[in-house]
Amino acid sequence: MNHDSVIKISNLTKTFGKVTAVDKINLEVKQGDFFGFVGPNGAGKSTTINCLLNFLFPTEGDMTILGLDCIKDSVELKKYIGFVPAEVFYYENMTVKELLNYSNSFYNGLEVKLIKKYIKMFAIPLDKKMGELSSGNKKKVAIIQSLLHKPQLLILDEPSNGLDPLMQANLFNVLEEIRKDGTTIFMSSHVLKEVQNHCNRVAFIKDGKIIKTGLINSIIKKNMKLVKITTNDINDLKKNLKVKDLENVIIRGNTISFIYRNTPRQLLKELAGYDIIDLSIETPDLEDIFMDFYKGGK
Ligand code: ADP
Ligand code: MG
Repeated sequence: MNHDSVIKISNLTKTFGKVTAVDKINLEVKQGDFFGFVGPNGAGKSTTINCLLNFLFPTEGDMTILGLDCIKDSVELKKYIGFVPAEVFYYENMTVKELLNYSNSFYNGLEVKLIKKYIKMFAIPLDKKMGELSSGNKKKVAIIQSLLHKPQLLILDEPSNGLDPLMQANLFNVLEEIRKDGTTIFMSSHVLKEVQNHCNRVAFIKDGKIIKTGLINSIIKKNMKLVKITTNDINDLKKNLKVKDLENVIIRGNTISFIYRNTPRQLLKELAGYDIIDLSIETPDLEDIFMDFYKGGK
């Protein structure tokens, strides 16, 4: 079996009545990836994940994980997959300790020492009942629980949602740690910063369609600069720059900023003759590039 491809989604479609939540998507996650599945609210991230985990039955398409079929082999697959859902629901009357002991009784998984470390790291209130926990605390319990059986693949649906900044940092430390130990990670998110900081590969989904996918480094590198110019000739300048080279244009007072899809050399040529007060040309981050995508642009 070729496990190089850990998740493979071919032509997945899921409709709910008239709503097409996921529209013919193709996606591949490779061994060792920290894969970011990015998109605004309602894009189709959770639907895709729920199909992968066989919580939802797809309308069309094929999905495999570790070479096994996500539907036919779903029971076996649970052994190899950890999952942190977007919203966590548990037996309300169990204490956290009881829940973790109960979950752990199924596995021959993590060493107790490591579990204790995680419990301390995430400041888990062991003696509280699950029903009494805040959503952030429930999520922290779900994170630990997802790791107990040392999964080969960890799937997280917007994991940082509801966690305070310290806990988010802890979460990503743990994720980086288990990735080093060989776990492949598939994480949905709408937070571009965290994806840029931690993922190596990314797919952008919007309105159920994948609009871009690739290695983060190559997405950011490709002939793309974040430019900021302060000048008193702003309108004149804007008129004369080639429209096809510009994206995400923002004008504030006498400062214009935009993503420039051409070379700095070309830009400097076009700027010659203008009275420039200030100029910066930088490599943009994902947020600069994909703001339009969130705003409802292309
Ligand atoms: P995301 O996780 O990216 O925020 P979802 O996958 O939850 O997006 O939702 C994608 C689309 O499918 C949305 O338009 C949502 O309203 C719709 N949808 C999701 N689940 C259901 C459902 N059970 N019944 C009807 N529509 C749904
Ligand atoms: Mg969701």
